[in-house]
Amino acid sequence: MPIPVPRLARRARTAAGAVCALALSLLVAVPASGSAAASGCQVDYTVNEWTGGYTAELRVTNAGPALSDWRVTWTYEGDQHVTSAWNASVTQTGHTVTAVSTAWNGALATGGTVGFGVQGTSGAGGPAPTGFALNGVSCGGDTTTPPTTPPPTTPPTTPPSAECGDAVVCDDFENQAGSVPAGDWTFTAPDCQGTGTAAVDTDIAHSGTRSLRLDGKAGYCNHAFVASTADLSSVGPVLYVRMWVRHTTALPAAHVAFVSMPDSSQGGKALRIGGQNGALQWNRESDDATLPAQSPTGVGLSRPLPTDTWQCLRFAVDTSAPGLDTWLDDEQVPGLHADGVPTRDIDDQWLSRTTPPRPTALRLGWESYGTGDDTLWFDDVAVGSSPVGC
Ligand code: CA
Repeated sequence: MPIPVPRLARRARTAAGAVCALALSLLVAVPASGSAAASGCQVDYTVNEWTGGYTAELRVTNAGPALSDWRVTWTYEGDQHVTSAWNASVTQTGHTVTAVSTAWNGALATGGTVGFGVQGTSGAGGPAPTGFALNGVSCGGDTTTPPTTPPPTTPPTTPPSAECGDAVVCDDFENQAGSVPAGDWTFTAPDCQGTGTAAVDTDIAHSGTRSLRLDGKAGYCNHAFVASTADLSSVGPVLYVRMWVRHTTALPAAHVAFVSMPDSSQGGKALRIGGQNGALQWNRESDDATLPAQSPTGVGLSRPLPTDTWQCLRFAVDTSAPGLDTWLDDEQVPGLHADGVPTRDIDDQWLSRTTPPRPTALRLGWESYGTGDDTLWFDDVAVGSSPVGC
């Protein structure tokens, strides 16, 4: 299965002429003849495409009887394949996609509208979907001729290699001889140190027999990080980071961070990755801006960090223009995407500061600003000027 192209989507859209967004309305109110469940629906399907991938927002209006839960189905005529979704549980079998309501958004009144979204791969920029139905009743859209999706203007590229040989940082921690991080890594507690600890772990590793282990503790003064001694000041113009991370405790509602990069464009204050409201989040220490915005919609466009399993976290920070992208296990996270165009619920607050970040170092660990203990492991960490795959 092809994976999203690991580059800033902002750039891809620019290359494609910024014309890849299209919206289509598939029409309304087709009574189901002879059925007590007379129904109808309208579907607005708005797609944003880039080379090799897309996201689509769907808004479904129920013209039939009130529903306590809903199921929306459609057909992709092309090679589109859904890889993730928000505000719905989505599965795809062959060309048929089924989106089912979540525990909290199933109620859909007559005339009511519900929104959800999908992200997927698309090798050839497939044609618009057809055959929308709500709870098995056709929305009647098959009679509408959908607009043609513009083909991508650049050919799909192969995913980046997981090899990181010439990257500035390329470390599997196998050369750590003792239990205290040493050599290319050093313990640090940037603001204040408490009971959080760091060690080289020989029990749990993604590769080999060693990884970094951080026992993070709740409370403001328990900062504990292991910092790479590498100077990242000249990595760019896009700084790419790949790491494998594993943790034991779901991201809390309160704000936490587990990646911290001093940013010389903000006087050394940190550019951070962590969580809030249970989902991954970028945060800027200098003005406390978050990406995505912490609205329910914004949080829904991010992702939890699954527990007790190794996750491949990758990100790209553009140091020459406001641009930032994030992938979790090779899937681009829509809510963790900043570009030059403010998008409500995602990066409108983030883009209030237009100076591009300039990370100078990488710190892995834990800081909590309220509640939240967690134990984390990091392994196979890479930082360089070109993408490194999972
Ligand atoms: Ca290792």
